[in-house]
Amino acid sequence: MGPLLSVSELKKYYEIRRSVFSVEKETIRAVDGVTFELEAGKTLGIVGESGSGKSTLARCVLLLERPDSGGVVFCGTDLLKAGREGIRDLRRQMQIIFQDPYSSLNPRMKVLDIIAEPVVYHGIAKKRDAREKVMEILRSVGLDEDFLGKYPHEMSGGQRQRVAIGRALATDPALIIADEPVSSLDVSIQAQIVNLFLDIREQSGISMIFVSHDLNVVRFLSDHILVLYRGKVVEAGERDEVFFNPLHPYTRMLLSASRGEFFLETDPADGENAALCPYYNKCKEKTARCGEQAPVLAGEEKHRAACLRNGLF
Ligand code: ATP
Ligand code: MG
Repeated sequence: MGPLLSVSELKKYYEIRRSVFSVEKETIRAVDGVTFELEAGKTLGIVGESGSGKSTLARCVLLLERPDSGGVVFCGTDLLKAGREGIRDLRRQMQIIFQDPYSSLNPRMKVLDIIAEPVVYHGIAKKRDAREKVMEILRSVGLDEDFLGKYPHEMSGGQRQRVAIGRALATDPALIIADEPVSSLDVSIQAQIVNLFLDIREQSGISMIFVSHDLNVVRFLSDHILVLYRGKVVEAGERDEVFFNPLHPYTRMLLSASRGEFFLETDPADGENAALCPYYNKCKEKTARCGEQAPVLAGEEKHRAACLRNGLF
């Protein structure tokens, strides 16, 4: 059996005007040739600073946005070629959880209806049996019966995110994509939600893609890690490989930033030689070769990096 999800050379560019008054256009390479695979039952962590293309990648994989080019094969089906019916069925199999549960949950719906909606829509239970199914889901995300009649504004941030997770689980998906699912929560609540994800994975064997700028969150949950920088994969591999033996200077910098050694500054400008290596301008370890040759993702299956300095070329 092949991988559950296989993404190849995915690209999504945006054309934006440089300023309100300008006619000059600028191309943002939000996702710039991303390739990865996810095996069933595994969790992939995607990390990178703000603007590195994490959310765009997630949206393109789910077809919430159409990529410019590349391939997304899920459960053996090429999503970019699937018809409407096929996509509806695959939607059931792939669910997303967003950063801010307050804006992703309908404020005028009670918890019962929020979770019952996908259950009924996808024919998992008839309307009259939906309540039972919703109760079961609520329990699995650590909430009790009292929540059935509550509206989003009557709950705390952590409780709302539990409801959003329950809604995503309602269709028994094969894959959950969580885009910064704990970033809007208090630190004490973050750990509870991370633990909930761990429990869910253990009980259901579900596959996950976990997007976060916070390496500490990704670390607990991921089997594999993908490091994005300016829309490109600069490093990918097994979790401990990436954490304990980072090969790319950008990953090393991210790791020290997560230890609180300094703050990350983002740099939106393309600058010199960015077409060769996206990290060229920031890199403190570059050599003359880095200005002449583009690195490709190279190394062993368990750990690869796109850097001319890592001795893989
Ligand atoms: P964050 O950590 O802040 O959520 P991210 O890694 O999720 O960042 P994206 O939101 O995917 O990054 O954005 C990647 C790049 O694409 C950014 O430069 C962003 O400004 C740009 N971008 C994203 N969506 C659009 C859009 N609809 N139109 C124009 N530019 C966009
Ligand atoms: Mg994002």
